[in-house]
Amino acid sequence: MNRMTEHQDDVLVRALACGGTVRALAVRSTEVARTLSARHEASPLGTVAASRVATAALLMGGLLKGREQVGLQLKGDGPLGAVYAIANADGDVRVSIDEPTLDLPPGPDGRWPLPQALGLGRMTVTRSLGLKEPYVGVVPMVTGEVAEDLAHYFEASEQKPAAVGISEVLGPDGVRMAGGFLVQGLPGAEPAALDEIARRIEALPALSRLFADGVGPEALLARIFDELVVLESYPVRMTCPCDRGRFEALLRTMGSAELHALADEKPTTEVICHFCNTRYFFSPDELRALAAAQPGR
Ligand SMILES: [Zn+2]
Repeated sequence: MNRMTEHQDDVLVRALACGGTVRALAVRSTEVARTLSARHEASPLGTVAASRVATAALLMGGLLKGREQVGLQLKGDGPLGAVYAIANADGDVRVSIDEPTLDLPPGPDGRWPLPQALGLGRMTVTRSLGLKEPYVGVVPMVTGEVAEDLAHYFEASEQKPAAVGISEVLGPDGVRMAGGFLVQGLPGAEPAALDEIARRIEALPALSRLFADGVGPEALLARIFDELVVLESYPVRMTCPCDRGRFEALLRTMGSAELHALADEKPTTEVICHFCNTRYFFSPDELRALAAAQPGR
C-alpha cells in the first residue's frame, strides 16, 4: 500500500520531555485539512491557508484546560483576507476564510505564496472560558507562513518561547498529509537542553518531507527527543457547532422591523455559516414568526 494515501486517523499527541521540563505536542491534521478544503471549496492555496491555521489552532488547543476555547486569526492586507480558526481542548476545530478560492501557484522553489496572499497584518489570539473576560494577545505577523507567526506570538505576547513547525503535502488529488508540532520549555528547563532541542529541530528534514515519508506525530517527536513521556493522544476533527437555532437567534438580534423588511423583500432568505458553509433557508413566514417572537413585543 502506498504510504502517502494510506488512511491514518487525525490525532494530537501531548508529551513531556527532559524530565518534565519541556512540553511537546504534535498533530496529524490531514482529514481536518481535507474537510476544510471541501467545505470551503478552496483552491490549493486556500486549502494550505485553512490547513495551517487549523493546525496551529489545534496545537494551541492542546495547551488548554477543560472547556477553554482558543481563537486564532491572521488578518493581513493581502487578497486572501482574514483566516480565523477556533479550537478547543477536545480536538474540535473550525475555520473561516474570507477568500478560499484565491488561486496563486506555488513559487519556483515549491513554496506556497501564503505571505503574499495574506500580506502584512496582525495575528490575534483569543482564549476564552465561558463568560469570563477573554485573554486577547495581538502581535504583528512576521512571515505569514503561520508556524513562524505562532512562534513569534509565544515569544512576544506570552514571553514563553516555543518552536513551531506546520506543513502539508498537497498532490493533484488534494491534501495528502497535514500536521505540525509545538515544543516549549517550561519553568526549570535547562538552557543547554533547550539549545540541543533547537539544534535538533533545525537539523530536521523539511516537515513536508517527513510527512511524505509517513512520519506520524509521535515518530516526529521521537526525532527531536531521546526520551518522551506521552501524556495523552486524542483524535482531532473539523466540526462546527452551528445549527438552525443559532441562526434564528442571530436573525432575532436584527430586530422586528428589519425582519419584516427582509420577509417582504425576498421569497427566501439564505444565511450561510462561514465556518462550515452550511446554508440555512428562511421563508417570509418564518422571518415574521421570528419577528413576532421578539422579546418585549
Ligand atoms: Zn457552521
